[in-house]
Amino acid sequence: MQTIIKNGKIIDGSGKAAFAADIGINDGKISEIGNLKKAKAKKIVDAAGKFVAPGFIDIQNHSDVYWAIFDSPQMQSLVSQGITTVLMGNCGASLAPLISRDALFSIQKWHDLAGVNLNWLTFGEYLAELSKRKFGTNLAGLVGYSTLRRGLIKDNVRPLKNEEIKILNKVLSKSMEQGAFGLSSGLSYAHEAIMAESELNSLAQTVKESGGLFSIHLRSESSELVESVSEALELVSKFGVNMKISHFKAREKDNWHLLPQALALIEAAYQKHGNIHFDVYPYDFVWQVLYTYLPKWSYEGGRNSILNNLKGETQRRKMLAYLASRNIDYSQIFIASTAHSLNVAGKTIGEIAARHGTTSEESLLDIIENGGSEVLVFEKNLDEKQVRELLAHPLGMVATDGAGFSTSTQGRLVHPRCFGSMPKFLHLALSENLMPVGKAVQKLTSIPAAKIGLQKRGQLKKGYFADICIFSADVKDAATRENPFRFSQGISYVFVNGEPEFENGNFSASSAGIVLKK
Ligand SMILES: [Zn+2]
Repeated sequence: MQTIIKNGKIIDGSGKAAFAADIGINDGKISEIGNLKKAKAKKIVDAAGKFVAPGFIDIQNHSDVYWAIFDSPQMQSLVSQGITTVLMGNCGASLAPLISRDALFSIQKWHDLAGVNLNWLTFGEYLAELSKRKFGTNLAGLVGYSTLRRGLIKDNVRPLKNEEIKILNKVLSKSMEQGAFGLSSGLSYAHEAIMAESELNSLAQTVKESGGLFSIHLRSESSELVESVSEALELVSKFGVNMKISHFKAREKDNWHLLPQALALIEAAYQKHGNIHFDVYPYDFVWQVLYTYLPKWSYEGGRNSILNNLKGETQRRKMLAYLASRNIDYSQIFIASTAHSLNVAGKTIGEIAARHGTTSEESLLDIIENGGSEVLVFEKNLDEKQVRELLAHPLGMVATDGAGFSTSTQGRLVHPRCFGSMPKFLHLALSENLMPVGKAVQKLTSIPAAKIGLQKRGQLKKGYFADICIFSADVKDAATRENPFRFSQGISYVFVNGEPEFENGNFSASSAGIVLKK
């Protein structure tokens, strides 16, 4: 045998409690589970006192649009928290298919595109290019709706004509034939905010016909949370599409009271149709694009119209009035990164405003104006109790909504969820009695695997791929808002396709992650 993991407490991913057994690995797969005390292997890992679980599956991941799969393909921040497979292409943005080069503008809110060169157009060509490379985790991808749309109508912001909808549906189903696992949409972002209902309907139908997943970033997570959830659920009831709501939450204190109602709608839809889940990250602060604090009209034409509006005196005054009318303490917003270096990363808007002798609202506009295409911020606007409730909810999965970074990422801060989500959740389960650890692991493994439609992953079973995470009961995240580049404690081994990817704090150079196709 290639490898034996012995003496561990097996949590097989099905939701069952832990049991004692050894695991044998051969040819990248689990070849045996049982008593292997006498068996021989090239490599023996003693997991005495530790849990042995399937590798975690991050169903809401952005390693593509943050360019992490190219900049830091070992995906250290993910592997080190036990993640062995990621689903990318979420929130409406993916790196393929590219109907035209303009499609890529859908990602510029995350990554500066200067100097970027790509050698693919179709989803199939994209996967073929990725297959030539090595990654720390397995990669699966969705088609981003904004990527499709912008590829076709460029920077125009208008509802699509019937003919255009037809073209997009064709490209979408072709992409799914070529290996995409489904579609994502990001309805709150500038270029999708205007999408007509007929567009959503016909897309949902195409996803359903191809047996894919529809990952939806709700139109609103604040005052219109309930309406936005209803909009998503209508697609489930009309078309029976397999749906996942991304990073589900109610943001801003004034809207927290809406969450129970939204959740009740999801539960009722599940009772009736099944097929609806959501994912959550275990933190009470968000990582988001700064322009989304502005009034919708000011960014409906994309970045250019934001800049024009900021320059017009009347519009600027209207924007300030809008900011002032909302019950948000802008001074507490924390700048994570800007595309143009402004030396503001790691500071709150309040601190920056004080330095310039201006108000937080004015300062916010200045940072958008001068920060370039990509200004990302952290804001604590979630209710910690609600976050826990969603994490523990039977329809909730746990995901990073992050990307695979290394610790050498310079000059900017990333959300600590990129480094600590899974350990933080397991810590809540094991040390704060959130839920039994068997059930917690199920949320990280077999539930997302089934949701995505991954074959032979997400459980420890004979014949399944040997994606495995070994962790101890003292597992805990270490990354913080000010200091995000810190690996968690208590994750001792991570195997990807049978290869040790992470071993007692060290990353292997093997990078055994592969590209997965639907
Ligand atoms: Zn999103």
